[in-house]
Parts: sequence; C-alpha cells; structure tokens
Amino acid sequence: MTVDSVMANELPVLTEDLVMLRDTVRKFVANEIVPIEGELRRNGATGIPAEILGPIQERARRSGLWCFETPEKFGGAGMKPLALAIAYEEAAKHTYSSPDVGCGAFGYDPPNILQAGTLEQQDKYIPPAVDSGSQWFMAVTEPSGGSDPARSIQTRARRVNGDWVIDGRKMFTSRADVATHGIIFARTGEGRDGITAFIVTMPVKGMSIRKVDVIRDHHTTEVTLEGVVVPDEDVLGEVGGGFNLSQRWFNIGRIKIAAQSIGMATAALEIAIEYAKERSTFGKPLAARQTVQKKIVDSFIAIQAGRWLVYEAALRTERGENPKNVASAAKVFCTEEAFRIVDRAIQILGGMGLTREMPLEHWLRALRVLRVVEGPTEVHEMVLARALLGSAATGKA
Ligand SMILES: Cc1cc2nc3c(=O)[nH]c(=O)nc-3n(C[C@H](O)[C@H](O)[C@H](O)COP(=O)(O)OP(=O)(O)OC[C@H]3O[C@@H](n4cnc5c(N)ncnc54)[C@H](O)[C@@H]3O)c2cc1C
Repeated sequence: MTVDSVMANELPVLTEDLVMLRDTVRKFVANEIVPIEGELRRNGATGIPAEILGPIQERARRSGLWCFETPEKFGGAGMKPLALAIAYEEAAKHTYSSPDVGCGAFGYDPPNILQAGTLEQQDKYIPPAVDSGSQWFMAVTEPSGGSDPARSIQTRARRVNGDWVIDGRKMFTSRADVATHGIIFARTGEGRDGITAFIVTMPVKGMSIRKVDVIRDHHTTEVTLEGVVVPDEDVLGEVGGGFNLSQRWFNIGRIKIAAQSIGMATAALEIAIEYAKERSTFGKPLAARQTVQKKIVDSFIAIQAGRWLVYEAALRTERGENPKNVASAAKVFCTEEAFRIVDRAIQILGGMGLTREMPLEHWLRALRVLRVVEGPTEVHEMVLARALLGSAATGKA
C-alpha cells in the first residue's frame, strides 16, 4: 500500500488527464531513475552523470515530459500550474530530485520570466535552450543579502554608448558555472522600481565565477561582474521592472519547491512505513509501537495538508489570481514539514537512515536548503503577518 492510496487516490481536483500525467511521471521516475541511483549514492555521486543522464533525457523527450513548464510552441510540455505541481511532486520521488527536478532528466525550463520578454527575445533564447537542454542561472542575491533584494541589490548597471555596463557581485548564484545563459538583476535607479533584469550569454567578458560549497551538492557560486557589457536589446522587461519580474518568477518557483518537498516527504514516509513493518525490537515490529505510529501518522497528515496548499496556490495562479499569500504559505508549510518528515523517517530507520544506502540524508540536506532559498521561512511569515495584521504588523502607529 502506498501513502497516496490511503486518502488521496482520486482527489476531486484531479481530472483524468492529470491522473494520467501523475502516473506517467511516477512510472518514469520508478523505471528510469530509481533503479540506477542506489549505486550512484554508494559511490558518493552528487547527481546523475551526463553519460547516464543523456539517454534518460532522450526517453523523457519522447514521452512528452521535456521542459514541463515551457509552452508547447517553444518545444516544452506546456504544463499549467496544477499539472506542473503534480509533475514536480512525482519527479521528486528519488534521491537527486532537488534543486533540478528529476536531476535534469526532464530538461531545464528556461526561467519562466523570459516569457515576459519581447517576441524577439523569446524566439532567440527559448527554443535553442529547450532543444539543447541547456541551463540558465538567475542572479538576484548579493553578499549584502538575499531576503530583501529591493534594498540590498548594489550591483549597478550604467548606460554607456547605448549599451549597459554592469559592475558588482552576486552571491549563491546556482549554476553560473554550467549555464549557457543567465539573468542578472542590477540597480539602474533607486528603490524597488530601480532594478532591471539583463540577459547574458556565457562566457561573459568581465565575469568571474567562484564555487561556494554548501550543505547540498550542487553548483553554487559567487559571481563577480567587472565592466560586463550588455546590449540594450538584452534588457528583459522594462528598465526598472526587474523586481516585479523576479516576484512573478518566485511565485511559481515557490509552488514548485513546495511540490518537490511533498514528493520527497512522501517517498521518505513510504520508506519509513516499510521499515517499521519489517524491523522488530524487543519482540515486536516497530510498527506496533505507538510512538512510531504517531511519527508516521503526523507525517501523513502533514503531507495531505501540504499537498492541498500546493494545489490551491497552483489553481489560483491558473485562474489568473495573484497567488502570493498562498504560495508563501505552501512554501513555508511544505518545506518545514517535509524536513521534519524526513528527519522522523531517519529516526525510524535508526543508523540505516543516516547511511548513503538510503536517500534520506540527501533529502534532509536538500530540504535544509529549501527552507532558506526563494525566501527564508521568516520572510514568508512576515509577508503573511502583514496580510493578516495590516499596518499593525509594521509596529508603526
Ligand atoms: C544553495 C543555495 C542556492 C541559491 N541559489 C540562488 C540563485 O540561484 N539565485 C539567487 O539569486 N540566490 C540564490 N540563493 C540565495 C538565497 O535565495 C538566499 O540565501 C536567501 O534569499 C536568503 O538570503 P541571505 O542568505 O542573504 O540571508 P539574509 O537576507 O541575510 O537573512 C538571514 C536570515 O535572517 C532571517 N531573516 C531575514 N529577514 C527576516 C525578517 N524580516 N524577519 C525575521 N527573520 C528574518 C532569516 O532566517 C534568514 O535566513 C541560493 C542560496 C543557497 C544557499
């Protein structure tokens, strides 16, 4: 019996198409990724090596599971937000499921804010990226802070002879060392309306990249920009409109992160359930101990609740509503709860839970990161507190 079969088998919002999508991604992950990852983990691999990933990516393309979010006209699967959330959850049920969904098995969507670009920019950048499976970076955070980019961005872009010249430093930029393109947010004026997004094509003259090791194994870097020249045609959106663009990207990003977290949590709970049924101590299976049962039931309830928050955020986005508050709630609840669920699963497995024989320690590290990126928990709590308490939340009379 799987966790989903207890309550969520035929959720009322799931149409036949969505059930089919869920089952297709689930089967793909179970057949293509899960069987190879045990050995990779034991050998200390931090992801799926390119020579193994390539053929899996080809099969994902043929199955219509390539670049989930990218519109079909650009060669992607064109999933709407609810479908995207469902696919992300399923694609996260294996070890290397975060930050890149399916460890890149399903391609890399060019950042969705690129769809806010001009038709020329979309045609120039999106189809080749989808076709080649290349990666993008998004550089918002700086050494001066990431929680409050409207205030902390100090990287400057100046107009020089019709072009833009960028100077500054970016911190924690994921994938800058492997990407073919990136989007850099720089200050062109003051305040939140003084930030502009620029598209760059790698390698970029004047850009240096330093690897920064963090708790999870991924491409995390610090980027220094010295006199980087960007032509005016590569400004993305309006000059001064970069902050709003980044918020649109973050809203859908938070729904995806929340869905991924639910996927990891569900897979962890399934491992814990199987172990609890098989392992005996003091003459009884662990499953017969009430403290173990409580861990399992608490995890199950949190998964169900988190999944509904994700669905609500996705459906509101699909209806054209601003999903900001519910996306924040989903991001906080799912990442925090998933971290606890994986931690409880480790506790149920004891020492085994901490080994690389199991994906649990990998998920714990991945989820620890997800509680900070795309807005730390406390910042989303601040957003929600302001929505609930109005001006009283600012403490100003
Ligand atoms: C592995 C990894 C990958 C990343 N990838 C990218 C990327 O690709 N692109 C990018 O631009 N950035 C990226 N980031 C940066 C990430 O988004 C930031 O780390 C995050 O936004 C927090 O910013 P900060 O680390 O500067 O923390 P700060 O802004 O300095 O905040 C520090 C801590 O203070 C607390 N805090 C902040 N504000 C409040 C508040 N109002 N109330 C209460 N507590 C508060 C929070 O606990 C927060 O964790 C990545 C980070 C990591 C670790």
